[in-house]
Amino acid sequence: MIELDDRTRAIQRQARAWAQELKPLALELDQDPDAIHRHLDVAIVSYLTRMTVPPEFNPDPVVIDGRPFYGTGTLERVVFAEEVAVGDAGMLLAAPGPVMSGVLVDAMGDEQQKKWFYSRIMEKPTWTFFALTEPDRGSDAGAMNTTLTPDGDDHFVLRGAKRYIGNAARADLGIVFARTRPGPLGVTAVLTETSAAGFTAEPLETIGLRGLRITAVTLDDVRVPAGQVLGRHLRATQRGMWSAVQGLNRLRPGVAAFGLGIARAAYEYVLANRRTLNTAERHRLDRLGLRLTELRQLIWRSAIAVDDNDPAAGSLASAAKARASRLAEEATLEALGCFGPGARLDHPLLDKLARDARGVEFMEGTGNIQKLNLFTGLVQGHLRRD
Ligand SMILES: Cc1cc2nc3c(=O)[nH]c(=O)nc-3n(C[C@H](O)[C@H](O)[C@H](O)COP(=O)(O)OP(=O)(O)OC[C@H]3O[C@@H](n4cnc5c(N)ncnc54)[C@H](O)[C@@H]3O)c2cc1C
Repeated sequence: MIELDDRTRAIQRQARAWAQELKPLALELDQDPDAIHRHLDVAIVSYLTRMTVPPEFNPDPVVIDGRPFYGTGTLERVVFAEEVAVGDAGMLLAAPGPVMSGVLVDAMGDEQQKKWFYSRIMEKPTWTFFALTEPDRGSDAGAMNTTLTPDGDDHFVLRGAKRYIGNAARADLGIVFARTRPGPLGVTAVLTETSAAGFTAEPLETIGLRGLRITAVTLDDVRVPAGQVLGRHLRATQRGMWSAVQGLNRLRPGVAAFGLGIARAAYEYVLANRRTLNTAERHRLDRLGLRLTELRQLIWRSAIAVDDNDPAAGSLASAAKARASRLAEEATLEALGCFGPGARLDHPLLDKLARDARGVEFMEGTGNIQKLNLFTGLVQGHLRRD
């Protein structure tokens, strides 16, 4: 059984207290994703604007119990993410900040690129995006068609389309994955500003996780300076898809924690709002409580593996993500079932949780893709079968 140390317990306590502010705002943001602009002063949102900015670029971290917190550790982040998602996963995803693209900048950026990226983040609340998925090429990201071609000595041109990209319609900058030549080594990532000519972002209507404002992006001959191509100082095998996979492995325990938080929110909603439960319902809820605890342990284990650079990290993170998205869906539907026919109309917050849970299935790869990753990890001996 994994136990948290004092430091991680401090951020957990703080996140739980901060998250209380989110529940009353959850339905407002669900109805109007632009409501995030009215809530930038909420303490947790303000922390998220700088969470994961490394100490050398963040002179003003959040201090809890006398200790500075940067959100750069994976375990610390998953503990935080679960608590925030119990408050509202929509707000967590709607907040400005560097989290997804920052992981790639850390892995693939040179010193100048990191300085440029983080100084923009520290200037003001700045939304960022991470554009990998393309229309008809979601799970099979390696088959992407977006191209990056040289245009003179000091520029490149991006051409193509991306889809389901979180926050792109409100972002100032982010990362676009594109192809410089055929094959797995021909994929690279480039820092891109949304103000560039030819960059357009059209929000898509969604029913779950609406705060995230997923977007269709068109890249119509977008010129980017050569200095913004990431990984130029790295070996070819460390650029592009390899870095994307490493980055996604680091982020996946956090997505699993969103799922856990949504499942826990549904469980706690039933406990708070159904005072008398029959025996069968009581048993089902007890079982659900147990599954939440088991999943939390798996997520923490995967986060520790990521922080330790353990070769099992990717497989454990896939196991955690697959289990979390399934539990989020099952827990929210189970909770709705406790309130009988019409529950979705009578309990709009629970209805929202069930819609959000479905969104978790697709973020960062579907359950089937996670199971394929896990199977590959087992076959390659990264993970012990027990
Ligand atoms: C809320 C949300 C936020 C997102 N944010 C981002 C973002 O910020 N950036 C970004 O780049 N993308 C983002 N995405 C896109 C997400 O990564 C894709 O939706 C996901 O990769 C699945 O791709 P797809 O939707 O094209 O489905 P498909 O890949 O077409 O899959 C459809 C179905 O086929 C199954 N399937 C596909 N291939 C296989 C296989 N080989 N074996 C077995 N089954 C298979 C899948 O499991 C799924 O059930 C987001 C999506 C959502 C819903």
